[in-house]
Amino acid sequence: MTRTFDAIVIGAGQAGPPLAGRLTASGMKVAIIERDKFGGTCVNTGCMPTKTLVASAYAAHLARRGADYGIVLDQPVRLDMRKVRSRAATVTANASRSVENWLRNMKGCTVFQGSARFEGPKEVRVGPELLSAPRIFINVGGRAVVPDLPGLDEISYLTNSSMLELERVPEHLVVIGGSYIGLEFAQMYRRFGAEVTVVEMGPRLVGREDPDISDAVRDILEKEGIHVRTSAECIRFAKGNPKGQPGIRVGVDCTQGDPEILGSDVLLAVGRRPNTGDLGLDRAGVALDHRGYIMVNEGLQTNVAGIWALGDCNGRGAFTHTAYNDYEIVAANLLDGENRRVSDRVSGYALFIDPPLGRAGMTEAQVRARGKPYLSSTRPMTRVGRAVEKDETLGFMKVLADPATKEILGAAILGTGGDEAIHGILDAMNAKTPYDRLRWAVPIHPTVSELIPTLLLGLQPAPAS
Ligand SMILES: Cc1cc2nc3c(=O)[nH]c(=O)nc-3n(C[C@H](O)[C@H](O)[C@H](O)COP(=O)(O)OP(=O)(O)OC[C@H]3O[C@@H](n4cnc5c(N)ncnc54)[C@H](O)[C@@H]3O)c2cc1C
Repeated sequence: MTRTFDAIVIGAGQAGPPLAGRLTASGMKVAIIERDKFGGTCVNTGCMPTKTLVASAYAAHLARRGADYGIVLDQPVRLDMRKVRSRAATVTANASRSVENWLRNMKGCTVFQGSARFEGPKEVRVGPELLSAPRIFINVGGRAVVPDLPGLDEISYLTNSSMLELERVPEHLVVIGGSYIGLEFAQMYRRFGAEVTVVEMGPRLVGREDPDISDAVRDILEKEGIHVRTSAECIRFAKGNPKGQPGIRVGVDCTQGDPEILGSDVLLAVGRRPNTGDLGLDRAGVALDHRGYIMVNEGLQTNVAGIWALGDCNGRGAFTHTAYNDYEIVAANLLDGENRRVSDRVSGYALFIDPPLGRAGMTEAQVRARGKPYLSSTRPMTRVGRAVEKDETLGFMKVLADPATKEILGAAILGTGGDEAIHGILDAMNAKTPYDRLRWAVPIHPTVSELIPTLLLGLQPAPAS
């Protein structure tokens, strides 16, 4: 027998639960289906556990630096990995339980546990149950890419999920992938005491950023003793070392340095892929792009009327805040009669190494590609009083603006508090505030944000390159 609802939500990640909340509040009968842990990637294997671990790693780092601040520890800093892990597990479990309780107690919402699969454009099967609704919202997220690299099937490797189960600190962690996820794990495990090598196929770390950011990030990591191997071509794996000792050999064929690295553990962090392969989307007629992302329009509707895709699975964002914003767009258009568009979103995100990188809007490469004159201003973190006081002066801040429209086009703050301070600029960009209004703002002293007006006062025509 088919059970009929007003709406079906597939996936209880970052967009599905709040959407179920709005739909039920508007009087709809909603089914939400989750096959794993409530809260999805962010809560269980992404943002929350990693940022909890980053906080432990920062504590270790600061404890080791105690003497710089006149704090004397009589014994070397020791790591209680069990406590570190259980802290992360508790934060995660509490958050997941809270999402689950919210959904289970939501009036008008029925929770189904199992893997959802389309049977038609309005029917979804979960276990023995067949559900039907005129509106279906897909929020299935993604998972780590396991690349097709020689020898990978001969070794055991870790991903962001299995890394969280690890009860020991690897002797030598080789991180494949020098972008956001890989670098957070690299620095955190270095601070937990592992030897760490980051292997990146591209010529620089965080290749999506401008070269000055990539260079500064590399410098920050290398200062902590992390080995970085860029332009690593023909990455391959083999068990053990030539002397018969345990370990994993990672062939890198880099242009410089040893052609092979001997590690104890390998973490794969080379990207994410959408969970769309087993959803039966062909039965519903929903179109995917060549990478398996669900194609959507500006309102996040798929090519099939009555089916929407939200969050990482639509390829329009790869963050918790973009998934949540997808929910806001869909709810506003469906329930509030608005016409919100995904392309109106100003992009912003952070790389949570220490010091963190906060980014708003375009990179300089993207600004330059517009082919129009632009203004640029850069200041080192050594100019920020608060950074000096905290003895955390690595990094710099940079802003780019349009001289004709006075619009801020993009900004990056790589430095202590950069993940928070960037919001001064991100909020101004969202409010479409011209940069000259911010030049005369009176910021709080001493903060990282206090340098933003000075940064804007320094805007100069960028040299044509
Ligand atoms: C290590 C790591 C660190 C990260 N750190 C950050 C960060 O600091 N900040 C940030 O903004 N983002 C971060 N992210 C990204 C963030 O986690 C994701 O962008 C976010 O979780 C996407 O939310 P979502 O709702 O699209 O999907 P998800 O959170 O992945 O949720 C999808 C849900 O759908 C379920 N599902 C899938 N298929 C089915 C099916 N067929 N039937 C039923 N259920 C199904 C899944 O089990 C899952 O619960 C990080 C990611 C990783 C991996």
